Amino acid sequence: MKRNFSYKICPWCLKRQFIKNYPIRKIVDDCEICHGIEKQIDKICHKVIQSTKDYVYDTLLIGVTLDHTFYDNEDKFRSRFKIRGKQNIKMSLLREIRTRFTKISHKKIDLNSPDIVVNLQIGKKFETLVSIRSSTLVLSGRYKKTKRFRSILKNADKDSYLEINQHYIENILKKKLARITKCESIIFWPIGKEEPESLVLGAGRPFYVSIKNSKITRFRRHFSIRSEGITFNINKKPSHLPISAPHLINKVRCFVNCSENLKSSHLKLINSTDIKIVKFNNKRNKIWKFVYHMQSKLKSKKNFELIMLCDNGFPVRKFINGYEDTSPNLNLISKVNCKCDTFDILDIICENIC
Ligand SMILES: [Zn+2]
Repeated sequence: MKRNFSYKICPWCLKRQFIKNYPIRKIVDDCEICHGIEKQIDKICHKVIQSTKDYVYDTLLIGVTLDHTFYDNEDKFRSRFKIRGKQNIKMSLLREIRTRFTKISHKKIDLNSPDIVVNLQIGKKFETLVSIRSSTLVLSGRYKKTKRFRSILKNADKDSYLEINQHYIENILKKKLARITKCESIIFWPIGKEEPESLVLGAGRPFYVSIKNSKITRFRRHFSIRSEGITFNINKKPSHLPISAPHLINKVRCFVNCSENLKSSHLKLINSTDIKIVKFNNKRNKIWKFVYHMQSKLKSKKNFELIMLCDNGFPVRKFINGYEDTSPNLNLISKVNCKCDTFDILDIICENIC
């Protein structure tokens, strides 16, 4: 067995052992604990600088996975001297890397919500693998649609129709955002849907996007993306996605065709400030949605324009056409056979108007 003071320990390793009167030797590579890892710290920091150069960020968290031989060496030494509860080689190395890196890069360490997380895997011979991930970025905003899309699937059912429109909008936004952020993936969360032919005006439809491993972690407070008749106004960076969708009221303009000539008595029956509860039968269940206001305006003998204030997600076409036992529906209310041509979202209001 070695004598107590015959271990070759470098000053960097010796400092954290707190052993009284242990002789300080000028050892670096021969250190029996770290084999000169301290000398590698600057090299490791520059490797991190190199690996993070594509990221735009302010704060980071650095983690280290160290080859087990370094712990084994230190444990062996500590058991000889019965050293307990002192900082180990990994923590010491990590603290040093964090300090030196922040000095070189002028970035800040943030343990709670860093812009990026850097993980270092350091092998037996100091071979270092750097992996970087940015924290998932959540942005929110509203989109406006000032151009009607022409749907390719003429005979698709209503739900597919809404899906097609959502995918189309999603692809426009994803293409643009992916180019800006050089990210791994994007998820688009609109609050509500509309048909491909529907315009979305006013303040627009609220949406959220979550962006995985974005190279850009800091955005201007407001920015817009315009493409193919859609304007995405992005103005908030919430810390996470909301647990539930906010209660929204839609102002909808519908163009309605009738099977017979319209009389003022028909329109009188429609115009109402009474709140209506409308029951819709879905494939699996029944849902109830509110109409808060209806106002009609004659356009020609057999057409009228209907302005409605209703809940977000209100199935407008089902209500006007009276599909699937929707009750009450516009046919029943107006006492005339109605068919929805197109409808537009004039505004989406985020407040309770009842
Ligand atoms: Zn050492």
